[in-house]
Amino acid sequence: MKRNISILGSTGSVGVNTLRIVRTHPRRFSVKALAAKTNARRLYDQAREFKPECVCLYDEKNAAALEKKLRPLGIRLVTGDEGLAHVASLAGVNVAVFAVVGAVGLKPLFEAVKARKDVAIANKEPLVMAGSLLMAQARKNRVAVLPIDSEHSALWQCLEGYPKETVKRLILTSSGGPFRTRKGSLAAIKPSEALKHPNWKMGPKITIDSATLMNKGLEVIEAVNLFDVPLKEVDVLIHPESIIHSMIEFVDGSHLAHLGIADMRLPIQYALSYPERLVNHLPTLDLVKLKSLHFERPDKKRFPCLELGYEASRRGGTMPAVLNAANEIAVEAFLNHKIKFTAIAAIIEKTMARHRVKKQFDLQSVFEADVWARQQAIKLIR
Ligand code: MG
Repeated sequence: MKRNISILGSTGSVGVNTLRIVRTHPRRFSVKALAAKTNARRLYDQAREFKPECVCLYDEKNAAALEKKLRPLGIRLVTGDEGLAHVASLAGVNVAVFAVVGAVGLKPLFEAVKARKDVAIANKEPLVMAGSLLMAQARKNRVAVLPIDSEHSALWQCLEGYPKETVKRLILTSSGGPFRTRKGSLAAIKPSEALKHPNWKMGPKITIDSATLMNKGLEVIEAVNLFDVPLKEVDVLIHPESIIHSMIEFVDGSHLAHLGIADMRLPIQYALSYPERLVNHLPTLDLVKLKSLHFERPDKKRFPCLELGYEASRRGGTMPAVLNAANEIAVEAFLNHKIKFTAIAAIIEKTMARHRVKKQFDLQSVFEADVWARQQAIKLIR
């Protein structure tokens, strides 16, 4: 059966890889809609190749020029938040792929679920902010939430078919980022250094999150929400080679791990083809060449963002949304040379300390907490 997909964030790293999968399996997938933030040129090239019905350019600045170019192709252009929601919930779409970065994906994600689309999610921030609300809505509307984040795809594949009470622990692996073995203070780290990830090629926001280990802090919350497990059953293990993408421990002490090359096309393809597995031509995993895999405990003192993730989840309610918003602001400030690398964690911690958690929360309170935390973080940076 052919699946019609829409991709939010088609010009970013996950979006481009999703389209590579469509290109490999043209009989299985067709592109119904695409959305990008600012890259009008790449979006146009994608539209010409994949012939979607509708395209969204989030940033309205270059919309008029793009619209003119798309008109002869019979492709409609939409813009802004409304456009993004439109692409997410378009009639005829079976799966909406969320490959945007940050809280901007939250509203369209709920729109997609309300419109009864399956959602394939690489955009972890909404799952951190309101994952439990999203899962409840997805259950109610009987749509599938398909994880693309490589660790969660791994956990999903390990957990498949096992009753919950047989599972003791989820173990998220982390490469440890580019500064795992760095000696001395992390304060003087420049954005250009933090943007060099050892194993994965990704966009700037997640690459900085990987360097601070906030990415893993966010992923812990993402796992709690996606798989509905208690926080104390989620552990993090540093594994520099990024070959084991995550694992589970059963109550009898058996472990089940998911292994593969570090290529996002693996989890993206599985999310789109589930429950089937499709043949592809990716490089194979060569364990003989690798020879050894290494593991260590995370250094929570040097990388306080990981513990902040746990703390936000422990506090619950609106706190994960505050953690996420403060992090988005702090990462942007770091990338713009406004704050030091080590100030990222400090700003998040201070913002969290000022927040009064709303334990009983709905989508509205999540949005309010997000706006409040952004303002606080900006004040702290000034
Ligand atoms: Mg990940």
